[in-house]
Amino acid sequence: MKEISVETHSRVEMIDITAAVQKFIREEKIEEGICLVYTPHTTAAITINENADPDVPIDILAALDKAFPFTANYRHAEGNSAAHVKSSLVGASELVIIENGRLVLGTWQSIFFCEFDGSRSRKVFISIIAG
Ligand code: ZN
Repeated sequence: MKEISVETHSRVEMIDITAAVQKFIREEKIEEGICLVYTPHTTAAITINENADPDVPIDILAALDKAFPFTANYRHAEGNSAAHVKSSLVGASELVIIENGRLVLGTWQSIFFCEFDGSRSRKVFISIIAG
């Protein structure tokens, strides 16, 4: 397993971590397999979406904010319920196929770390099942 540190700089943010995941696969010399990308946080998530147009992650974050505003009639005393809801909806992990030593992603796809309650230091774990 590999741990990646991610520094976030905004309350909500999507950070492309594809290169760091691909680097680990290259270092481990994995040719074929499945790669799990997982974040152990309750107010963050991992997702795959478009990286070509930077407005796509901005729109995703804006749509999530509209659906789950930071201030609403939440019970959780910490005051970050919207971030917890977004984390559960987007999900803590993604699985990606590895073929010929490369992540199998679509032309426009990237793996994003999603911050929903930043800024903070975050962790992402990568684990590979080879074969
Ligand atoms: Zn909380």
